Formats: sequence, C-alpha cells, structure tokens
Amino acid sequence: MEGVLVTGSASAELAGECARCLEPITDEIEVRFQELFVYDDQDYSSEEDDEVSMLEGDLINLEPLLRDAVVLALPFQPLCTDDCPGLCPECGVRLAEAPGHVHEEPVDPRWAGLAELQQDPEAPE
Ligand SMILES: [Zn+2]
Ligand SMILES: [Zn+2]
Repeated sequence: MEGVLVTGSASAELAGECARCLEPITDEIEVRFQELFVYDDQDYSSEEDDEVSMLEGDLINLEPLLRDAVVLALPFQPLCTDDCPGLCPECGVRLAEAPGHVHEEPVDPRWAGLAELQQDPEAPE
C-alpha cells in the first residue's frame, strides 16, 4: 500500500571492444529487475532518499532502475572470446590471428654491458 512494486525484464544490445585485443564486439544482455516505488507524498528522512525510489506523481521513471540493472550485469572485462590471447606486446598484432607468432628476444640496452661481461671469461665477477 505504500507504493508500486515494479517487476520486469529488459533486453539491450551491447557494443564495445574486447578488453584484450580491442576487437569490436556486440552482444545482447537481458536483465530482470524489481523495485518498490513509493508514493512521493510520503515522508522520508533525507538520508533515506538515496535508497528509496519514488513515484513521480502518477509516473514511474524506469531509467535509473534500468541503467543500474544493465550496468551491474555488464561484464567487467568484455572479451571477444573467453580465451582471447590479446595483442603482441612487441608489435601489437592480434595473437588470435597470428598463432605461433614470436620475436627474437630483445636485448634491453641497459643490460647490454652485462652480456659482454658474461661472454668474457677473464672478466672479474
Ligand atoms: Zn579479443
Ligand atoms: Zn609481435
């Protein structure tokens, strides 16, 4: 009697990028929601206002409810495939399209001097 209980489901189309390889991905999502909208002539203390959904006169504004439900249901890191190998850290190629893709071990210029020492048996430790 203190309000209107709204129950429903909604589907939405998603578009985004794979979090690992940036490939565009599309998906569909379906969310269910239930929320009590209280009549706006009731008295609620200010700290409760954030938690309580209010009817706006005779109308129900579903947008915040839908937005929260969809955002909560979104994957934190969307992937094009569950085992997406991502991008090559060297050249940026999509590893899914270049299996077995390798580069020669790069020599960090800061360690090049050490490599020379290692090859010289006379060098002191
Ligand atoms: Zn991917
Ligand atoms: Zn590469």
